[in-house]
Amino acid sequence: MINFHQLQYLKPEKIKQLQNKILRNFIKNQIPYSPFYHKLFKKNNIKFYNIKTTDDLKKLPFTTKADIAPTYKHKKRFLDFVLQPNKNLISKHAPIHKKIKYLLSEPHLYYEYKPIHPHFTTGRTANSVPILYTAFDLQRLEESGKRMMGIFDVSKDEVVINAFPYAPHLAFWQTYYAAKGANLLTLHTGGGRILGTEKITALIESMKATCLAGMPGYLYHLLRAAEEQKNNLSSLGLVVFGGERVPVELRGKIRQFLKPIGSKAPAVLSTYAFTEGKCAWAECYEESGYHIYPDFEFIEVVDKNGERVNEGEEGEIVYTSLDWRGSVFLRYKTGDITKGIYYGRCPNCKRTLPRIDSSIERSSEYKELKLTKIKGSLVNLNTFFSIMMSHKDIEEWQVEIKKRNNDPYEIDQLILYISPKKKANFEKLRNELRSRIIAETEITPEIVKLQLAELLEKLGMETELKEKRIVDSRKKV
Ligand SMILES: [Zn+2]
Repeated sequence: MINFHQLQYLKPEKIKQLQNKILRNFIKNQIPYSPFYHKLFKKNNIKFYNIKTTDDLKKLPFTTKADIAPTYKHKKRFLDFVLQPNKNLISKHAPIHKKIKYLLSEPHLYYEYKPIHPHFTTGRTANSVPILYTAFDLQRLEESGKRMMGIFDVSKDEVVINAFPYAPHLAFWQTYYAAKGANLLTLHTGGGRILGTEKITALIESMKATCLAGMPGYLYHLLRAAEEQKNNLSSLGLVVFGGERVPVELRGKIRQFLKPIGSKAPAVLSTYAFTEGKCAWAECYEESGYHIYPDFEFIEVVDKNGERVNEGEEGEIVYTSLDWRGSVFLRYKTGDITKGIYYGRCPNCKRTLPRIDSSIERSSEYKELKLTKIKGSLVNLNTFFSIMMSHKDIEEWQVEIKKRNNDPYEIDQLILYISPKKKANFEKLRNELRSRIIAETEITPEIVKLQLAELLEKLGMETELKEKRIVDSRKKV
């Protein structure tokens, strides 16, 4: 593996050269083992040696979620993206030193290519796709985690609490491997559903944990619970979000919680990842952008027509694996929209790793709900996140879309459940929210006040893998 300590400060043009070299070798020596891409190259009449630089990738068509998702006829399409060398392919495509190694040593081949660890993409179970890791990949997952801890500036004496829900998902396992890679004392709690929030807050206190990682909505809930129970969490210096989009306003709310419970100048940082990308990327400072690993992936940003945009211009994030095994993707369209990618030196940490702008609109979240038809008009439900998360008088909230009287032939209703802060004036809050929601969505919501405990239960804060912020209870006719 490349020396990351040097790589992260290399001049951008050197990084580009290095990426071209890794990409060239990866396409020539590994991509022939991918049934999907082997076929795709052939169909488009592209030779493996035709891809010499990251600019040459433009010759390849994009890979989309639809290419990977199972179909009725082909339930295991995800396997077509897994590198599967055989004797024939090895003798044809492996470089000479590897050819001997592979053909003589089966354990070596197993280490590099045998899938041993899956993560599942989130989404409705039927469409959930396994992304496979080999032992070789897990070592890279550990390395990426170690790098991430470096970018967070976590020292070897820190104590980490992993509050991501225990699941075959990247967020939990990236944290596990990051802590292992950086050699940090870490408690992997499994989140509220496994260990329970009360126990987790008590353990943060007794272990004097310095770093807390988890999903944004859950961490907010956890810190509020800590405040109520009067836990002393003054040891916490870093809160790391992952797993989903972080509304900017939530960072401020989290910091407000941390200050009174004794934490001094806590950093609230975020990570970005998608399952197909196989590892997560971190900010070094709030809103600094996500620092990616140029020897592990190539990220390009494209416009609506699929044309690559310039540095700092908005577009969709497109991902290409570099030198991974197991499941690999070339020009994978994530559906996530960023404000841009930057190649210059990071003004904060001085690293020259490419950075994806921190402002990302994620497609994976509430994809089916993002633009939802309510009363016949399309409503962007992401609007609710910024309104609700930023409001100082709102403790918790949930949006439910239902049919009046639960009658499928009736009209749609949008109900907003609110648990206001103790000192808030609910009537005033209700009027303010109603006019803001009408202005932004043209829908008149019904606003219902609930006790915090009742709303937390509705959200499934202690029982669900991820809290249910937006619920569509309309029965399909
Ligand atoms: Zn930085």
